[in-house]
Amino acid sequence: MNLFLLGLPGAGKGTQAARIAETYGIPHISTGDMFRAAMKNGTPLGKEAKSYMDAGNLVPDEVTNGIVKERLAEPDAQNGFLLDGYPRTLNQANALKEALSSSGRSLDAVLYIKVNKDILMERLTGRFICATCGATYHKLFNPPKVEGTCDVCGGHDFYQREDDKPETVEKRIDVNEAQTEELAAYYEETGIVKEINGEQDPDSVFEDIRNILK
Ligand SMILES: [Zn+2]
Repeated sequence: MNLFLLGLPGAGKGTQAARIAETYGIPHISTGDMFRAAMKNGTPLGKEAKSYMDAGNLVPDEVTNGIVKERLAEPDAQNGFLLDGYPRTLNQANALKEALSSSGRSLDAVLYIKVNKDILMERLTGRFICATCGATYHKLFNPPKVEGTCDVCGGHDFYQREDDKPETVEKRIDVNEAQTEELAAYYEETGIVKEINGEQDPDSVFEDIRNILK
């Protein structure tokens, strides 16, 4: 089963990816892990990627595509894989298609976990930190037992990281939304996009995925 997991930040891709990989016995191939492995192993493409990143530059598509192609050629990916975070652009999607077809393969399904932007905002801006002791909380998932009071130290001052502030999160969602929609439309043409309601609890989301993959 050759799968690609699509969805905006906060859609719950990480949680679902882990469960899919475990249940179906296929490797979860995330871009971040792949880059780290290629650099750690010192492959030629890994070294090239590192030189761009060390200089603070974006890694060009051809390097990224090459790293993915190498990863997909490894033995554990021959009976299926779950791609996460790649492809990110249409150029990469085309490169993936070529890489797969050169080994007689293709994607079987694009699992598109959809979550309304308001809910993503709630999920992604909910984290806050105790200014006194550094304990972290989340408005939805992990609130203090007494509102406004730190469970650990009893402090009342909290702050948010820059990354968790609404302005920052909204920008991140907007940038990703355009790319995600573009990719969904690209794969829609081949009829392999399966939309999943990501606003449910994680167990129900996974149940839907299992039904789709039956
Ligand atoms: Zn505290």
